[in-house]
Amino acid sequence: MSLFEEKHQFAEIILPVPVPKTFCYFISPAWDLEVVVGQRVLVEFGNRKVYTGIIAEIHQKRPEEYDPKPILELLEDTPSVTPDQIKLWKWVAEYYMCTIGDVMNIALPSGLKLSSQSFIQLHPDFSIDDNLEMLTDREFTFLKLLEKEQTIPYTNVASILELKNPYKAVKDLIAKQAILLIEKIKEKYKPKMEKRIRLHQSLVDNTALLDGVFDIIAKKAKQEDALLKYLSMVPVYEDPMTNYHGVSKSEFIKENKPLSASSVGTMTKNGIFEEFERQVPRFELSIADKMMPTPELSEAQNECLQKVVTGLNEKGTCLLHGVTGSGKTEIYLQLIQNVIENGSQALFLIPEIALTSQLVRRLKVYFGDVLGIYHSKFSDNERVETWKGVQEGDYQVIVGTRASLFLPFSDLELIVVDEEHDSSYKAQDKAPRYQGRDVALVLAHLHHAKVILGSATPSLESFYLAVKKKYAYAPLTERYGGAQLPEVKIVDIKRMRKQRKMKDEFSDDLLQAVHETTEEGYQAILFQNRRGYSPYVSCETCGWVPECPSCAVNLTYHIYKNELRCHYCGYKEHVPKTCVNCGSTHLQTVGVGTQKIEESLKTYLTDLRVGRMDLDSTRRKHSYEQILTDFEQGHLDVLVGTQMITKGLDFGNVRVVGILDADRLLHFPDFRAHERAFQLLTQVSGRAGRRGKEGTVILQTSTPDETLFAKVARHDYANFYRKEIQERQQYHYPPFTRLIRLTVRSEKQDLTRESAEWLAQRLTHWIGANRILGPQEPVINKIRNYFLSEILIKLERENYDLKKAKSLIQHAVNNLREEKPFKRVWVSIDVDPA
Ligand code: ADP
Ligand code: ZN
Ligand code: ZN
Repeated sequence: MSLFEEKHQFAEIILPVPVPKTFCYFISPAWDLEVVVGQRVLVEFGNRKVYTGIIAEIHQKRPEEYDPKPILELLEDTPSVTPDQIKLWKWVAEYYMCTIGDVMNIALPSGLKLSSQSFIQLHPDFSIDDNLEMLTDREFTFLKLLEKEQTIPYTNVASILELKNPYKAVKDLIAKQAILLIEKIKEKYKPKMEKRIRLHQSLVDNTALLDGVFDIIAKKAKQEDALLKYLSMVPVYEDPMTNYHGVSKSEFIKENKPLSASSVGTMTKNGIFEEFERQVPRFELSIADKMMPTPELSEAQNECLQKVVTGLNEKGTCLLHGVTGSGKTEIYLQLIQNVIENGSQALFLIPEIALTSQLVRRLKVYFGDVLGIYHSKFSDNERVETWKGVQEGDYQVIVGTRASLFLPFSDLELIVVDEEHDSSYKAQDKAPRYQGRDVALVLAHLHHAKVILGSATPSLESFYLAVKKKYAYAPLTERYGGAQLPEVKIVDIKRMRKQRKMKDEFSDDLLQAVHETTEEGYQAILFQNRRGYSPYVSCETCGWVPECPSCAVNLTYHIYKNELRCHYCGYKEHVPKTCVNCGSTHLQTVGVGTQKIEESLKTYLTDLRVGRMDLDSTRRKHSYEQILTDFEQGHLDVLVGTQMITKGLDFGNVRVVGILDADRLLHFPDFRAHERAFQLLTQVSGRAGRRGKEGTVILQTSTPDETLFAKVARHDYANFYRKEIQERQQYHYPPFTRLIRLTVRSEKQDLTRESAEWLAQRLTHWIGANRILGPQEPVINKIRNYFLSEILIKLERENYDLKKAKSLIQHAVNNLREEKPFKRVWVSIDVDPA
């Protein structure tokens, strides 16, 4: 074809499809000067689907095997995605063994994805009536409709044309230059507006007029009051410029009771005030926040800061190991401040749930408008807003969860990974199953940026690398302001039960400690581990337990709605009145969840105001903030909760922390169980006595001699590490090896078993028997009607070709899917599983 004889340009395009490669498309010469890497484009993929893709590369290598299709449309002039981002996507796809489309899917907010959001419009140079002879009847009717409607969504074309697959028809029309495919950016993104009021500008320009207003409204007390209040909030006489921003109308009325909306309304009508609208920042500070003093570092903090600075310069990455309440945040703030002054960007990563408004407020006070926020609970609008803010340079600092690693940074200088040990940095549910902490290091590398990993209980991996001197190490061993680490009392609940010193799940010691501290006006936190501890219903007569119809788990009992729910698939039903198995009416609830703890605590300590924080009480977007605010402001005496309350919360008034049953934490069939337990117990203990007097932790257990508890009680990370790292080495677990977990899934148990066996056999053959564990069915072997089986692959960390192993694994998985009997088997791959 002559078309391709000159040097033509081609683009490698990333598409959100599960094929592990980019796709080559032909660039129309008309666009030669406009195409850029990172641009969003519209292309046809497969037979008749149209997708938004991203240009990953532009080249002149015409593929030999096929004629590339043309790019249908350029969707933007300035690319949404930077070349560095594409590099990061590629790394993530390769390392975590997923497709680059998977990465694109989670990296781009859906507001920027818009696939199949294409629209069709009439070509501006096309006249229907002049071209009648080249149109079919169907085309003619369609174009007439299009003329009337101006644009038609691509997704509606099929039904209009009464065609199953309309793309060919659309393509013909494009070829006839009758229509254009366009991407209509459905402005999903809408800024939030608020009504504000300010003084009419004429009164500000000429204060004599303003004086006159006072005379006019002298007899109208309410109006006079309103004017005075306004002037006390906005010092117009001193600084006329302050009037410009005015005040929020609703807040003005709310904060100045008994001021009424109607008097403000009258004054607006009379031209004293004027109303206007302003885009609301998504995050606003209260007056109390704004009064927070800028901290000065203590001597210990300063010393630590110096170590961090030196460490970062020497090694690029520094582990900041500071005990709970030592004031790590203040150290981060100083370092980020430097970055801002350099005109560069900083990223402050926090674990999933720890986006407590508390920490963000602190950051917002400190950094003001240059701080952007990015969180998975955000709406797509908010995400696009932050994305644009970073791109346009409005935000120099981003605080956010692991997803913010994919923002379009141009000049990143520092990444802080706060609570770096936290398991929520690891994405588990769907590909890419990436570890945010590790991706942070890669991102930093791309930008020549530095990384601080901060924690009171560092992950074994990070501490190991610090010991090996790969990372710099900066310890901070004292709490800020002279506060002591809490005293941890280990209470033997087995013995207590024998001595009748237990009331339900509470030892007398715990009840007394809670009672005393709340009497004195302090607060308490009670921690109940959720995993494996949810309450369920059981028949007293025959032992029957209601199970989820689609998952191999008991249903969990929820007291408030008197409901049974599956925590894996969301299935729910009413609590049955009779046993399905034997008909008995004697059904009892077994196990203790946070709800039950809350209930029974109220029966022993009747006057306490108790709040609860767990997945169920916080499902709505802002409810956890509400609970925390109530607790912070002293409207609650006790907070009962799961893991959620262990993370980073800073309440000065908490004196007592109760851990209801520490044992369960240890008994998970997982090589990280002890590490998790140590971290969790230390973190939750760390919520006690953060300011002023020493706090108390009551750790209830039936195995009081367990050495791990003694280490928690002594705040002894060093010895915990020593023992744990020894075991990891002995049993060949990370950080000494690298794990890859394959999960095989199908709707039939036999099929799952057979295919897992098949896969394990092949892997044994290719990679070596000693590196393959399993297949083994997980404890919960059926979820959402799929039966599961797992294969664990253990690879050496040194002197081993990881790339080759991964490609063999991928090969084996692909081969499995190609075998006829295994067509309906799915395999997910998890590299460095949590
Ligand atoms: P960590 O994250 O290390 O557990 P935080 O950073 O939350 O500790 O600090 C603990 C408490 O001490 C916070 O209330 C914080 O405001 C306070 N604090 C820490 N450093 C200072 C400082 N230099 N000046 C004033 N307050 C500080
Ligand atoms: Zn029964
Ligand atoms: Zn279920």
